[in-house]
Amino acid sequence: MQREEFFENLKRRGYRLTGRRKEIVDFLLARADGYITAKELIEYLQKRHPTLSFETVYRNLYTLRDEGFIEESHFGDETHYRIPCFPSHHHHFVCISCGRTYVMDHCPMPAISDIPVGFTILQHRFEVFGLCAQCRQKRDLPDSDTIAGPVPSSLHWN
Ligand SMILES: [Zn+2]
Ligand SMILES: [Zn+2]
Ligand SMILES: [Zn+2]
Repeated sequence: MQREEFFENLKRRGYRLTGRRKEIVDFLLARADGYITAKELIEYLQKRHPTLSFETVYRNLYTLRDEGFIEESHFGDETHYRIPCFPSHHHHFVCISCGRTYVMDHCPMPAISDIPVGFTILQHRFEVFGLCAQCRQKRDLPDSDTIAGPVPSSLHWN
């Protein structure tokens, strides 16, 4: 999504864009190819504004999330945030180390056949977690086809 388009969207929905908020959104947009943690955002902002409080950053993140402007995902014991990829429906492979995401060509939903009788599906989420080629190399792990079994304990997340 284009920067101006995203800012327009925020304004149209009544979100006031102060300088600080713009910086937060800019950081998220610069990393739109994946997830970031609040910690990464705080580190980036505190370099520029040493007195900036955690609360301010979290409050802004939560507002953006609650208003549906950014998405949230939990992995690697941390909450991660990203700008949603609009507009087409798709899913991601997520690197739990660097947060980068890769688009999945097909939505797995049509393959699910055991939907409970009478159950109406309103929406669904689907993400596959792992390590990208770069991060895997850093950890010196074998190729993914050889670790298709149980997840190694060093890779556990909640
Ligand atoms: Zn995407
Ligand atoms: Zn990675
Ligand atoms: Zn889907």
